[in-house]
Amino acid sequence: MCGIIGYNGFREANKVLIDCLKRLEYRGYDSAGIGIIGKKLQIFKEVGEISKLEKEIPVFDGDIGIGHTRWATHGAVTKENAHPQLSSNKKIAVIHNGIIDNFNFLKEDLEKKGVKFSSQTDSEVIAQLINENYKGNLRDAVISTIKQLKGSYAIVVVCKEEPDILVGARKESPLVIGVGDNENFLASDISALLKYTNRVKYLDDGEICVLSKTSIEVFNENKKEITKKEDIIDWELKDAEKSGFPHFMLKEIFEQPDAINRVLLGRVSEIDRTIKLHEKVEELLNYDIQSIHIIACGTSYYSGLVGKYLIEQLTNIPVFVELASEYRYFGTKNEKSLIIGVTQSGETADTLAALREAKNAGSRTLVITNVMGSTATRISDAYILTQSGPEIGVAATKTFTSQILILLLIAFKLAALKNKLGADELSKYIFRLKELPRKVREVLDHSDKILDIALQLKNVKSVFFIGRGINYPLSLEGALKLKEISYIHAEGFAAGELKHGPFALLTQITPVITIVTRDNTYDKMIANIGEVKARGPEVIAIADENDTEIEKHADFVIRFPGSSSPLSCIPIIVILQLLAYHVANLRGCSIDKPRNLAKSVTVE
Ligand code: GLU
Repeated sequence: MCGIIGYNGFREANKVLIDCLKRLEYRGYDSAGIGIIGKKLQIFKEVGEISKLEKEIPVFDGDIGIGHTRWATHGAVTKENAHPQLSSNKKIAVIHNGIIDNFNFLKEDLEKKGVKFSSQTDSEVIAQLINENYKGNLRDAVISTIKQLKGSYAIVVVCKEEPDILVGARKESPLVIGVGDNENFLASDISALLKYTNRVKYLDDGEICVLSKTSIEVFNENKKEITKKEDIIDWELKDAEKSGFPHFMLKEIFEQPDAINRVLLGRVSEIDRTIKLHEKVEELLNYDIQSIHIIACGTSYYSGLVGKYLIEQLTNIPVFVELASEYRYFGTKNEKSLIIGVTQSGETADTLAALREAKNAGSRTLVITNVMGSTATRISDAYILTQSGPEIGVAATKTFTSQILILLLIAFKLAALKNKLGADELSKYIFRLKELPRKVREVLDHSDKILDIALQLKNVKSVFFIGRGINYPLSLEGALKLKEISYIHAEGFAAGELKHGPFALLTQITPVITIVTRDNTYDKMIANIGEVKARGPEVIAIADENDTEIEKHADFVIRFPGSSSPLSCIPIIVILQLLAYHVANLRGCSIDKPRNLAKSVTVE
């Protein structure tokens, strides 16, 4: 949450900052601001989206500056609370992502010394403290300040008296250095920088960097210089642009055949009929695992629930799926369990905190993430990259599909290691895995049929999604997608649970979307559809193309290609995503930036 960018180079900082902020906007869009150091320190802030800031911004001369797009945690959405935050003598300007837990204490202390505050943010205290600690060396003032801070932060600081440098620091919030020729950058996210550079250096917790136009120095809190290696990012600029699609979300839905291929590439071999994961991952899976805890938040939590069904069915190892924010404080942790953290950004604060707790308790940790070099990859014993390319739409789509596929590969690998899956059975699965991109393409080719169903839903007040087994978490995800981008109230239920309470909410005008696969849940699902229909609502069934019975029971049917199998979850997800997308689009919603939400939830 919240996007930060710092620039020190030869271009007009104004333009670079606005351009990068637009690419970071999915991280927060309450307000935005920039600060430029030229002949003087100039600040400009606006409430609302970056486009508003861009329209109003005066021409500021200068080639060094900082920019911020906010997702408010402390203090209302106002101009005063937008970043950059300034020290009261206007010497220091700071942009901040995170939460300073002890800001009240620090603020009171500063106020006693006569410092006047002009915002309600926790972030202002950082600017005021740096100013208090400033004795002619910005780096040293930042080091003294971060020693006083409790909480999480990624900050970039500029100082009127040292107009040639940017100073950055981080703890538990992301900050990456972009390396250019005669220009350097700091950003919360690599995708913001792709237009300018694909060379990066990752800053670790507790490190401070000083950037001039031609040099990058990194220090620890004891001022000892640290050598950082440079990494090359293989994402391309076009991956972070809409490329003709009206929304990032639609583009990312359509990228899924390719995203699936990327997950399978090098990991699934039809020739050897094997699943091959990284050596370190296989080592982790080879231990005597008594249980698995999957920890995640939001959509990643639902991919974990899908993973539970897949892993338990194939391996018989008990899997507990836990919300990271709860697990952190209450979950059981021990050396015999494998912890799998699932986080798209690799920076989800709740998931990182839970992973750290588990690690301290002696558990082995494996992470599934989309971002190479992210904090999650660096604090875990091993990681698997989803390699989906940047995901800009706030509602996760292609990364959800890829997370599930990776959990499926883990299930296959574990089952093979524990002799629960014979070579022939594995071969059949591998064949089906390889078919998935084609099946997803078929769903995408029939997007107009899903649009027809969306037309039925666009004015409803409430929608239920139901399913059994693996289709239960898919129902949860289908409901989440719909509610987050269309603002229609939607709930997902295990189909057998309706009669234990939710039926009370069902009215004739509550459409029910049922996911029906031809497996051991089929008859019960048909019975559940009957129970729903008896109460009046219309039923929309998502069913396989060979199901000849379903039309007798449901009012509308959306088909997914092929016969039902555990792998059908992938085309079904794509149908649910398209349904949510079309409904939201028909309602004229802000699809890529839904209200009150932001991607990469870096605050707890
Ligand atoms: N806590 C800060 C604020 O509310 C920063 C929030 C963010 O990370 O966007 O201004």
